[in-house]
Amino acid sequence: MTTRATELLRVVHARPGVTRADAARLIGVGTGATTELVGRLGQAELLAEGPAAPSGARGRPTTALIPHPRGPLIAATSITHEAWRADVVELGGGILATVGEELHGRGGNEVVAAIGTAVAELRTRFAGRIRGIGIAVPGTVSRDLMLDASNLGWHDVDLAAAWPGAEIFVAGNDATLAASAESHRGVAVGASVALHLRIEAGLGGAVVNGGQVLVGALGAAGEFGHMPFGDPAVVCPCGARGCWGTAVAGSALARALGHEQPRDPVSYARRVIAATDAAATDATATVAAALGRGIAGLVNGLDPDLVTLGGLGVDLLAAAPDRIEEAYRAGLMGFRRAAPPPVLAAALGDDGPLAGAAEEAWTALLTNLV
Ligand SMILES: [Zn+2]
Repeated sequence: MTTRATELLRVVHARPGVTRADAARLIGVGTGATTELVGRLGQAELLAEGPAAPSGARGRPTTALIPHPRGPLIAATSITHEAWRADVVELGGGILATVGEELHGRGGNEVVAAIGTAVAELRTRFAGRIRGIGIAVPGTVSRDLMLDASNLGWHDVDLAAAWPGAEIFVAGNDATLAASAESHRGVAVGASVALHLRIEAGLGGAVVNGGQVLVGALGAAGEFGHMPFGDPAVVCPCGARGCWGTAVAGSALARALGHEQPRDPVSYARRVIAATDAAATDATATVAAALGRGIAGLVNGLDPDLVTLGGLGVDLLAAAPDRIEEAYRAGLMGFRRAAPPPVLAAALGDDGPLAGAAEEAWTALLTNLV
């Protein structure tokens, strides 16, 4: 019975507003047993029922399953190169509150302390309903929750300080979490192999195989920005030469335009990509071509159904789709050109890492609820 209850909560989490009849079919139990389960989960303040959207079909009206108004919540947090944000997320992914602020050059421990203060306030505001935290970060996270973010100059930052003793505490790389979210709630739902690429201050991503993110032996897979698809004359902050990320991120635009390396690489890149003068348009086209070429290499190697682009990838796809497409097709093996895997803007856009952090934390919490 407990397993069925968890399955029912999973169904409602994946499809908030699902009708009781559809939920019964999806978990494979009869309507009577489902009614009893829904009653039990309602008493436990985990599920509630609301009116379903009219289906147009004849028959008895059914009800929609929705999160309970006093149900458990997750604090989903993301740190970017420029700001942090925390969302309070209910079953089904709905956001009930958002707080955040810019980093203003603060160090990692100070930022984690600020997040900790905000999360403690949210826990009070939501009367103890927040049961766990998920954090997306622009770096790598060790098993004991220590963060290394070389682009920010942060090393050995203790993420656990954001909520010592939390029942649920998950943390992960932003691009990896965005890939997971895109496969759960974005345009990659149902793909057999999805490749997600996220351009921020650097370029990262992940391969999602049958809904499972490929994390690697050390948990550091997906550093696609450090494949040598770039100019060997350029040294990357990682220590290698010719990294692809140095050819597609904001640093590449600054180099092409003869600007100093920007302190706010994402906002800077957005401004350049949106600009319409000839120099900015040329720099954007060069970067878009470098992106398309690298995507072709990854598609040749990984054979995905589709490629999703997040972060600045969305901006580049909107500003220079033809340059990306031309370089992508030119780099594809001949047999793929008749039907190349589509390169799509990530549906979750900039919210991908945060949505992924919420998803990871909710997945962990769901097994604790019944
Ligand atoms: Zn590198």
